[in-house]
Amino acid sequence: MSIDHHHGRTHRLDWDDPSIREWDCTVLWSDPADPEAGIVLDRSAFYPGGGGQPPDHGVLLWQGVQTRIVGTRKGDDLFLLPAPGDPVPAAGTSVRGALDDDRRTSLMRTHSGLHVLCGTVFRDFGALVTGGSMEPGEARMDFNLPEIPQGFKQLLEDAVNKEIAADRSIEVRYLDREAALAIPDIIRTQAVVPPDTPVMRLVDIVGLDVQADGGTHVATTTQIGRIQVTKVESKGRQNRRVRIKLTD
Ligand SMILES: [Zn+2]
Repeated sequence: MSIDHHHGRTHRLDWDDPSIREWDCTVLWSDPADPEAGIVLDRSAFYPGGGGQPPDHGVLLWQGVQTRIVGTRKGDDLFLLPAPGDPVPAAGTSVRGALDDDRRTSLMRTHSGLHVLCGTVFRDFGALVTGGSMEPGEARMDFNLPEIPQGFKQLLEDAVNKEIAADRSIEVRYLDREAALAIPDIIRTQAVVPPDTPVMRLVDIVGLDVQADGGTHVATTTQIGRIQVTKVESKGRQNRRVRIKLTD
């Protein structure tokens, strides 16, 4: 099995090591006449967005100026979008990349927290995920749960924080597609078609939850910190929306 940490022509440093925040690299492609076309690097730790996790922000530092990165655009390559009006480095320029650490670290904690939530709801209430979204420090997730059990909000908050306090290891593993899809409940989101790749990336909160996932996560559940369940709402007959936030 070969694990390819590339996205188009860009080597994904965030897949090598989600703790990387600064690195040296070279611009492979840009169009200084059309900044909105984006910037392609040979090596990048910018998470491009996907699987509910928003893209990273940060800067490229080069020749005494900076290019703020505010997002990405879809395409065959990992196209980083510069802030409007910022200078754009030409192809061949050596740059130093740096992520907005507060945003990325908060998104990692939030994303891992959502997996703990989803694993706990599945184990204790048997409900699948129907959708969700996250921002740094807060998130929502929808579950197929026809009845809201008595005391659900507090029971869930207590159960989630108990799993976090258990300091479970969060590991990234790669499996051949067939072997991955043989794991029961590996696709936890209803109606989501698994990615059409020969090798699947799995995020395993050991003993609680395994999911096919491309996002960035903290290394153990205690790094998530405490989670508050702020709201449980009914969104349709079957659908319950759970809102959470990080409290420290
Ligand atoms: Zn995820």
